[in-house]
Amino acid sequence: MKMHATTEVAGAWPLHARFDGPIVMIGFGSIGRGTLPLLERHIAFDRKKFVVIAPDDEGRGLLDDRQLRFIHKAITRENYRDVLTPLLAAGPGRGMVVNVSVDTSSVDLMAFAKDLDAFYIDTVIEPWPGLYTDRKLSISQRSNYALREGLLELRRRRPGGVTAVSCCGANPGMVSWFVKRALLDVAAAIDLEVEAPKTRDDWARLMQRAGVKGIHIAERDTQRARDPKPRGVFVNTWSVEGFCAEGLQPSELGWGTHEKIMPANARRHDFGCDAAIYLTQPGASTRVRSWTPTAQSQHAFMITHNESISIADYFTLRENDNVVYRPTCHYAYHPCDDAVLSLHEMAGAAWQTQPEWKILGERDIVDGMDELGVLLYGHAHNAYWYGSQLSIEEARQLAPYQNATGLQVTSAVLAGIVWMLENPDRGIVEADEMDFRRCLEIQRPYLGPVVGCYTDWTPLHRRDGLFPEAVDRNDPWQFTNVMVR
Ligand code: NAD
Repeated sequence: MKMHATTEVAGAWPLHARFDGPIVMIGFGSIGRGTLPLLERHIAFDRKKFVVIAPDDEGRGLLDDRQLRFIHKAITRENYRDVLTPLLAAGPGRGMVVNVSVDTSSVDLMAFAKDLDAFYIDTVIEPWPGLYTDRKLSISQRSNYALREGLLELRRRRPGGVTAVSCCGANPGMVSWFVKRALLDVAAAIDLEVEAPKTRDDWARLMQRAGVKGIHIAERDTQRARDPKPRGVFVNTWSVEGFCAEGLQPSELGWGTHEKIMPANARRHDFGCDAAIYLTQPGASTRVRSWTPTAQSQHAFMITHNESISIADYFTLRENDNVVYRPTCHYAYHPCDDAVLSLHEMAGAAWQTQPEWKILGERDIVDGMDELGVLLYGHAHNAYWYGSQLSIEEARQLAPYQNATGLQVTSAVLAGIVWMLENPDRGIVEADEMDFRRCLEIQRPYLGPVVGCYTDWTPLHRRDGLFPEAVDRNDPWQFTNVMVR
């Protein structure tokens, strides 16, 4: 296996790395299909050793055209060792798993890749099928918090070794890199003297000093479909299966030290890092007030996400084992309008998923963008949004087989793979622990305008007493003001 930093240029695009070992891509849905052309463009790999495994053969034509191998199979708890071992052990050197599937256990596959000394990357912590709807499990056990604790437990048991990157898409993933970038901007704007933070503690201390009370992963997807959503179809700009699954998990958020009151139906977990709480209701029916540059002010869904927990955990500051600082952190997602309608329809059907699903491809969309960033709030300049405003038009020009949402994700997967090859023996890492500058440098050409802007908006904006409601006027950024009740 040979690797090197960016030195060659393939056409207008830089070649970032070489990888001579086998690459196994698990899943070939919207993210897998979008990732492939970026790998071909930026990583020199042995095409004879590239294989895709998925139980459905949608998109297979892309592989056949390229004479890339496809194995038409579901990876299961029972077969993953037998199916993957001969592929990954074929050499030369280490293999690599790029897991962009649903319904496969990320933690089991990561542990197995470790057994084979193979690289591993995914974009989410998925369980084997059934966890999200298993009534025998407690709400806490069905949470993303529990899935992440499973990952942390694996890391405690098997520290070090070949690099395995957990949750490296747009969010979770890229947004963790945005948080650091945005925090440095806020620190500079309020004239904090800052030495480049090096450790996790340095970062947490900087966030505390900057007065950041919390972070929204604030997203507005304005991509508009050519055809109106038919009744009985769930329409989205990425995995319908993935979105419905996380939407039906409990709503979760990293719970900051500035918060005064937990929502009445909020609970703490009785295990693990304790950085997050959950609500006894699904994220798909939990709305929060938030802000993006396009929306200015919006109601968004507090869907559970890994980064809500990992970011809150990463920026937790402890003194003598006591938590002295932690930001609140949660997703505030306004999906594309058709997905909002789809969620509404699904909620009305007592959360039965529609019989038909549709992921809008780049040709199904007439206009719009995915505006995805982080809103750092509560500091001396109130709130700062930093993120990507990638339009469908620009996405179409930049890379094939994906919409704007997809490209924000696949370019993060690319960045994660390049970083992993440049840092081959870091053990299991989360996006928060990667070099955010290097990752954003690789990803930047695919993000459209990346902007930072301040706003004087708070969750008390225009709540001027038309109807009675309990708000905390002394502390606008309390979560009780953010949550829509
Ligand atoms: P998709 O629904 O379009 O595709 C899922 C793929 O997984 C399909 O190819 C399907 O055949 C395959 N699959 C299903 N069961 C499988 C099994 N048992 N073994 C192997 N393959 C299997 O989903 P997508 O939009 O491509 O998303 C893929 C993953 O990426 C999902 O887990 C999703 O949650 C995640 N994702 C992460 C981000 C992020 O920003 N972090 C964003 C979008 C998607």
